[in-house]
Amino acid sequence: MPVYEFECPEGTITEKFVKMGTEEIECPNCHKKAKKIISRCTFELKGGGWFADGYSSNKK
Ligand SMILES: [Zn+2]
Repeated sequence: MPVYEFECPEGTITEKFVKMGTEEIECPNCHKKAKKIISRCTFELKGGGWFADGYSSNKK
């Protein structure tokens, strides 16, 4: 099962294994509904930063 990240109204981000298609879970901290974060693009942009660093330091 894939790991998704969920963010509740308080801003707590929870990683959880859920079935595909699950849109929200209960936040373990505040027990409010936490919605699935679908910002894949943001992730890739952030990842690109440190990936780029890794690549440049590994360049021969
Ligand atoms: Zn919460």
